[in-house]
Amino acid sequence: MAGTREKNIRRIIEMEDRICQCQRCLALIKCLRKPSMGKGELDPEALLVFEYENNFTRDMNNIIEMRNLIKQVFNLEKIYHTFMVRCQPKACTLRQSVNCYGHGKWINKDHTCVLSNKTCEGIPIRPGTAEIIACLPFLLEEIEILHPIYLFLFGERVAEFVLKSYGIYNGFSANQRHEHEQMIFLTSVDENEFRLDNCHQLVSILSK
Ligand code: SF4
Repeated sequence: MAGTREKNIRRIIEMEDRICQCQRCLALIKCLRKPSMGKGELDPEALLVFEYENNFTRDMNNIIEMRNLIKQVFNLEKIYHTFMVRCQPKACTLRQSVNCYGHGKWINKDHTCVLSNKTCEGIPIRPGTAEIIACLPFLLEEIEILHPIYLFLFGERVAEFVLKSYGIYNGFSANQRHEHEQMIFLTSVDENEFRLDNCHQLVSILSK
């Protein structure tokens, strides 16, 4: 069951502290300033789950637009969004040539790479399976804390890993509905393809 807002805040802060300390993916955190955290109402009716922080989700205007769409079509007030993988992987030829990680970060507060002394030139890429599996427990913990009515799972990989975790995955297609412990999981197209008609398709499957 969902906790009170105050209790949820305490538990989320405690979990975020652990995320900040997490070193499970050593290669990722070397070149990362800060892991991506969830944001929004801490007693949400809907939780939006994205695979990782990308160019689309980094732009708060996109998030606000998407939230407003869902609020309007689903008649909801309280929404929270979060990520399946907290540390953004980057492709970098310089880093690939270094075979000893040592201590400390390779990126400064101003995003200067300590290896090249230039602004980080790493190219954001999608997380791999090992990173998803390493990070998934944080998302499952967040879901358990917030226990929303609706979970919007954006993209095939989010649907696959989240639904498999609850043993309710039966292959991916967008606009499917699954239920588990009084939560309704809705599979969706990728976040950057999500429009008004996708939202209407999702709300229409609630009554089926
Ligand atoms: S991606 Fe997740 S599991 Fe990996 S280091 Fe970051 S917080 Fe830890």
